[in-house]
Amino acid sequence: MTYDDQDYLRRDPLIERVLISSDDLAKRCCQMGNELSRDYDGSVPILVCILKGAYVFLADLTRCLSIDHEVDFMAVSSYEGGTQSTGVVKIIKDLRVNITDRDVVIVEDIVDSGLTLSYLIDMLGTRSPRSIRVCALLDKVSARRKDVPIDYRGFEIPKEFVVGYGLDYDEKYRNLPFIGVLKQ
Ligand code: 5GP
Repeated sequence: MTYDDQDYLRRDPLIERVLISSDDLAKRCCQMGNELSRDYDGSVPILVCILKGAYVFLADLTRCLSIDHEVDFMAVSSYEGGTQSTGVVKIIKDLRVNITDRDVVIVEDIVDSGLTLSYLIDMLGTRSPRSIRVCALLDKVSARRKDVPIDYRGFEIPKEFVVGYGLDYDEKYRNLPFIGVLKQ
């Protein structure tokens, strides 16, 4: 069965429009997977998926990798269910693997203010990894409050609240196969 983004849109009055289609997500994801495979050839990087939002991206990204790699998960919270950043980052679930002397790739769904990522880079940096890079699907660059390096960027998007492809609004919409803009 093929999923038609526009069909879904017609059925849900709370989604204003499709910002990035499922086809474009699939293509870009594989380009990013190819870049990672090229850059980490000869290494076995640990992909650190930031839960919950990045789980769909990670699943698609890893299936486009041609190198050996490990995955692990961290859960953090910076938003308390609404659409505004609180600036407070809480670690809800930490890594199980030891990242000392390992190449780490942080896999994020979206970088908005940059506060979460900045905290994560500093915190993981204290564990003496060989390297830390960031792979983020979406970059809301105009919302940045803290400058953070993004080594692999999927799409630059405008300052709008988006859902789908793992991203939620009050735990809903993670299952959408596209990135959509929520009506405010
Ligand atoms: P930052 O700390 O960069 O402001 O926010 C990072 C986190 O906020 C993301 O990992 C994501 O969970 C959440 N976030 C930021 N912008 C959006 C958005 O447009 N939609 C959704 N669903 N979550 C967002």
